[in-house]
Amino acid sequence: MEQNQKTNLFGMTEQELRQLASDLGEKPFRGRQLYDWIYGKKASSLDEMGNLPGKFRENLAKDYTVFTGDIERKQTDPSDGTIKYLTRLADGEHVESVLMSYEHGNSLCVSTQVGCNMGCTFCASGLGGKVRDLTAGEIAGQIVSAEKDSGRKVSNIVLMGMGEPLDNFDEVMDFIRIANEDLGIGQRHITLSTCGLVPGIERLADKNLQINLAVSLHSPFQEERARIMPVARAYPIPQLIAACDDYFNRTGRRVTYEYTLIDGVNDRPEDAAELKKLLGGKPHHINLIPLNPVTETNHKRSNNVNLFAAELKKHHLNSTIRRKNGGNIDAACGQLRRNSMR
Ligand code: SAH
Repeated sequence: MEQNQKTNLFGMTEQELRQLASDLGEKPFRGRQLYDWIYGKKASSLDEMGNLPGKFRENLAKDYTVFTGDIERKQTDPSDGTIKYLTRLADGEHVESVLMSYEHGNSLCVSTQVGCNMGCTFCASGLGGKVRDLTAGEIAGQIVSAEKDSGRKVSNIVLMGMGEPLDNFDEVMDFIRIANEDLGIGQRHITLSTCGLVPGIERLADKNLQINLAVSLHSPFQEERARIMPVARAYPIPQLIAACDDYFNRTGRRVTYEYTLIDGVNDRPEDAAELKKLLGGKPHHINLIPLNPVTETNHKRSNNVNLFAAELKKHHLNSTIRRKNGGNIDAACGQLRRNSMR
């Protein structure tokens, strides 16, 4: 059997692994041992699992494998140690992840889909549409691959790589469970970023998790936002902000608004004034992101990043400018994959 036709043990729950052990005629505690090898010791093959009986390992090897993706390319930014990975999945598709080191720990940006259907005009991930959703195990595999390659422990996860997480809701929820329960990353150390799929935000609020929600706003004006983010036509700004307010009221978690500054599009004083009308007086945080220009689009980076931040401050809005990580590598989501596809 080919590697990619075997069932992947990585991504299975402890319960499923116990069941598998007993289905293969072993005591269920062998399933717990498998679980410890996979998630605790992060074993990448059955051969490493020394305390499992040889016969059990042989039986498993016929139909099962432990696979967290093959790192195919890697770019390191020497100025800040940021590493961008291009990983090959079992079916030959590729995803990107970015490992960034901060004083408080290491943050990994993971992909949730191959490609994306949302079509934001400034983003590289959506240029070829969505190829497929990732499974929970494939999303979590990015963590284990990055840890093993870098020797760094991942302490924070941001779902800000390729794809729209709320367009792959069930697998992403399962991923959050794996990251949290199996890999030991606290929910408060996980941030999910969405382009603003309102029904997804509502479903997420129902889950009552302690994760952080980030919403890509990028313009306070409906028409302008819809021009750069087609999803805004389906879920207009008032509906989106109402869903975010509701998320805060139900979970107690303050929503972050992401705001990628694009020259002449959303970096004017009137944009800041309109943001005040939308967010002033309610719990919020605005994350200003300098645009990472994508070759295929004609958007340009704003020259007004600091000026815009000062303007927001004048309006008593809280904002921070995202530290530019990996400026020397193809760090905008989807750029490494596209460049390597060429
Ligand atoms: N689908 C999710 C995650 C996308 S990536 C979402 O839309 O939120 C995370 C953030 O990076 C989003 O705010 C996205 O709009 C932004 N982004 C995408 N391409 C970018 C680029 N070229 N430069 C700067 N920010 C970009």
